This record gives sequence, C-alpha cells and structure tokens, in this order.
Amino acid sequence: MKPSELVPAINATICHLDWLNADRYQGALRLVAAVPIDLEQIGASAGGDAETRDRRVIGGHSDPTGDAVAGSADRQARLADRAEIVCNAARTVRGTVYGYTPTNAAGTITGALVDLTMVLHGHRTITAWQAPSEPARLGLHHAVQLCHDETSTLRYEVEQVLRYSATVAAGRPAQRERRYCASCSRGGLEVDIYVDRYAHFCRFCGDYKASEGRVPPDAACIWLHRHGKNPRGDQIARWIFEESLPSPVQRRRGA
Ligand SMILES: [Zn+2]
Repeated sequence: MKPSELVPAINATICHLDWLNADRYQGALRLVAAVPIDLEQIGASAGGDAETRDRRVIGGHSDPTGDAVAGSADRQARLADRAEIVCNAARTVRGTVYGYTPTNAAGTITGALVDLTMVLHGHRTITAWQAPSEPARLGLHHAVQLCHDETSTLRYEVEQVLRYSATVAAGRPAQRERRYCASCSRGGLEVDIYVDRYAHFCRFCGDYKASEGRVPPDAACIWLHRHGKNPRGDQIARWIFEESLPSPVQRRRGA
C-alpha cells in the first residue's frame, strides 16, 4: 500500500464500519442465530465459498437439520471472527500512530470506528506519523490494509445475510398461499397452476376443461405426470368410461 493510499483506505473503512454499526452487524448476528436453515441457502444461492462447500462435502451426513444448525453456528462464528480481526487491526493502527495501546475497551465495531477516526482527526494523525523503522512502517501499512479488506468482506457478508432474510420475508406469504391444480390434486399430485391462463388448473386440466366442459379423469392426470406427455383421446375416453362404472364397493352394496 502506497502512503497516498493510507487515508483513502481508512476513510473507506470508516464508511463500511459506519454502515455496519447502524445495527446491521448485530442484526445479521441475530438473524444467523434465528434462521439456521435458511443460512445454508445463502451459501448455495451466492455460490458459497470454497471453504464452506468443502466442509459441506466432508460433513456430508444425511441429517440436514443438524448440518444447518452447525452451519449457522459456523457462520455466526465466522462473522464474529472477522469483526474481531477488524477491531484488532484498527487498534493496531491507532496504537502504532499514537505510540501506545489505548486502554479503553476494544473489540466492538464502535471501538474500531473510534480508533480509526482518531488516526485521521485526533491529536496525532497517520499523515503526520514518522515511521521509526521500516518494519514499523510496513506493520502500519499492513494493519490498514487488513482492516480495510476485512471490513469490506464483513460488510459484504452482512449484506448477504440481510438481503437474504428480506427475500425470505417477502417470499413467505406467497409460499404459504401456494396452491396446486385442483384437478390433479385429486390423484395426490402437486402440480403448479398455469397462472397465465387459469385460476385453479394446470395447463392440461385447464385446456381439457375449456374444451370438454369438465376436468379430465384423475387417471389422465396421473398418467400425464408419470409419462411426461398428454394421454391420447382414446385413453381418456376409456378412463371416463371406467370412472362412470360403480366402484366394487358400490356394486357389492347394490347386489
Ligand atoms: Zn392438473
């Protein structure tokens, strides 16, 4: 990192910390704790990182709930670990510029914000700082870089959590109201309604009812979804005929 990049990097870091500090980091931690299963899907929808994917493969046992809970604790720990690196790096930056380690509590996003603000606008500043040695100069630059990189990654991860939970919240009512084709459901099938044209039916059942004035026999729905193509007219005619016959029980009662 060039000397001219130090202040812009710290400014950018402060922006990210400000964003995180508006209850977003804590909010993400709460969400991770509250919705363990959904968070596994974050990795899936975001492509996941190699580390998470590998762990999932290694973990690969057949207890999805257990996996999800482990994934949740894992992700919580990862957010917290990253925040800790950010706080420590910010403290190192301030400690280096001021020549001593501040004694007030570190380890919070607010603390990191204060530390970085102090090196820009405090009574000692990073621009006025004279490196006592080359290792000290490198150490400071490294700490600024680390703080910046980890903070932007943390922001990205927190954004993912918040955006995902917003998506889930928005998607929930629709999912609860999810209904299936009223005709196919007679045969126990869950077939999506062809919403472009029909309010209650899949395309096959809707089209059939539109032309024949009645829904197809349920045997036709079952055949369609087993074979992936529409049954022939003569098949349907046979099923309608069979449907019209009294069932064995009714026949016995009638006899
Ligand atoms: Zn149907």
